[in-house]
Amino acid sequence: MAFDPSLLRSQFPILSQQVNSHPLTYLDNAATTQKPACVLKAVHDYYCTSNANVHRGAHFLSDKATNQFEQAREVVQDFINAPLKSHIIWTKGTTESINMVAYGLEHILKQGDEILITSLEHHANLVPWQQLAFRTGARLRVLPLTSAGEWQEEFASYFTNRTRIFAATQVSNAIGTHTPLKEMLLRAKQQGAFTLVDGAQAVAHYPVDVEELDCDFYVFSGHKMYGPTGIGALYGKQHALEVLIPYQTGGEMVLKVAYQATEFNVLPYRLEAGTPNIEGAIGLAAASEFLNKQDRNALLEWEQKLANHVYTRLKKAGGIEIYSPEKHTTLVSFSVPNIHLIDLNGYLDGQGIGIRSGSHCTHPLMEQLGVHGTLRASFACYNTLEEADRFCDALFDAMELLG
Ligand code: PLP
Repeated sequence: MAFDPSLLRSQFPILSQQVNSHPLTYLDNAATTQKPACVLKAVHDYYCTSNANVHRGAHFLSDKATNQFEQAREVVQDFINAPLKSHIIWTKGTTESINMVAYGLEHILKQGDEILITSLEHHANLVPWQQLAFRTGARLRVLPLTSAGEWQEEFASYFTNRTRIFAATQVSNAIGTHTPLKEMLLRAKQQGAFTLVDGAQAVAHYPVDVEELDCDFYVFSGHKMYGPTGIGALYGKQHALEVLIPYQTGGEMVLKVAYQATEFNVLPYRLEAGTPNIEGAIGLAAASEFLNKQDRNALLEWEQKLANHVYTRLKKAGGIEIYSPEKHTTLVSFSVPNIHLIDLNGYLDGQGIGIRSGSHCTHPLMEQLGVHGTLRASFACYNTLEEADRFCDALFDAMELLG
């Protein structure tokens, strides 16, 4: 039976509203996704029935909150197939996870060591490494991937015996390209480098198996996979997490404190200073369970079908520069020569259509593409073919009006 997004769509209360007297057409899912009722309910129920601080009180609500919070960790562990729940560190999201690793690994770097990233990185997977290089005298190197994302043999020379850290995105947020992770991780591991995969744009669309990926660190944000904002995770292998120096210290992450010295707690708590985002963790677990209940392949096929439909219509229309690959993406990034992004975005907004315009936090990539920014329509499981067509029709109207 063909996938029918209307069944899923009805679980997202926000989508039924009108915007500027038009039905809301939300195509900014790469920035953040909308939340299903089960996620809203999990957060609401937590506050109505279980709210207390975790790990510290000896009373009914504190036990209840702690149990829910630690069960949420197990759900997320299972969601990405991590071997142990202590390998899941709660963070605010992808950005905080990467910073935690960049600060935590500072002590292993010396002058002349190399940190390797790719040319498709979000600023979140670039600036922390650049700043780490500034602090330590290490050199930041950039693997020049193209929009096609294909592995080329000459890339092998970027992985040297000085490469100590390799960090790459799984999927580009700006243009939707898949990076050649398998080949890159293999080369990085041959050099004994720590490896980090930025899964921010992958988790909502692709089943993730960190054991199979075999990276040292995997990072993602809840809000991009139908979960709440302000929560995300850092997955790490045991030895990799143990190498990290905690970049935040305080309560929760300690076993014994004296004025002379502090004994840090065991993993995962050693890397979780202060009161955590309890309701966020519970909401993220609900989002993971929401995705687990779906036929993930059917969802992915549907999202790719919508992106491909838009790609084909824009290509056929002519006069549009498309930066995304034709196939296997869930978004389409493009610009219209001679019409300003903001004008097109404004017109579409007037029609109730929400897409993203700008540099998508990827200034160096925009420079590589020779543009200041692009327009990006990005799809989620609840988007419909009518919405994809509504967007294309409105874009063509805007081009006629503004061109
Ligand atoms: N990495 C990628 C590929 C992203 O798309 C984003 C957000 O757009 C981030 C990192 C940063 O995520 P967050 O802002 O949730 O920390």
